Amino acid sequence: MDFKKYVRDIPNFPEEGITFKDITPLLQDAKALAGAGDALFELIANMEIDKVVGMESRGFIFAPILATHLNAGFVPVRKRGKLPHQIISESYELEYGTDVLEIHVDSIQKGERVLIHDDVLATGGTAKAVCKLIEKLGGEVVQCNFLMELNFLKGREKLSGYSVASLIKY
Ligand code: 5GP
Repeated sequence: MDFKKYVRDIPNFPEEGITFKDITPLLQDAKALAGAGDALFELIANMEIDKVVGMESRGFIFAPILATHLNAGFVPVRKRGKLPHQIISESYELEYGTDVLEIHVDSIQKGERVLIHDDVLATGGTAKAVCKLIEKLGGEVVQCNFLMELNFLKGREKLSGYSVASLIKY
């Protein structure tokens, strides 16, 4: 399936000079949505996974779909102040300044095998911070899995040492 035809470029979003890859056409098409879920699962099929961690907010779309395919639990990573229970946090670099991601302390047990999923791998800063959160809790990152990868931003370099897989490459 040619998933690229369901992704549209939005110029100057969320700010001037940035071209945003919008995946909502893919989500609203029944065949593309199911096909993308199945194809993402193919990237990790036959691996034992205990938890799928999804990043706020577009990581929340396919991470639970992958989790049900893998017979695993789903764990949300959220921006600062959104999770209600006890958390640990990790800050990461943005183009200007830093941001913070948080995870519940009881969401991953020591030794659990974890799949990370997000919609887009850009610079890799978000995914790297999530890897650190999982490892702080004693989890093992088995794969970083993305719907889309923006090769020119070199996210794979930031994630060196981790297995990285993506469905659509630009
Ligand atoms: P990174 O930390 O790798 O630089 O950025 C990845 C994060 O930014 C992901 O959580 C992703 O949702 C978001 N992101 C960055 N660029 C795009 C884009 O063009 N389209 C979409 N859908 N998300 C993006």
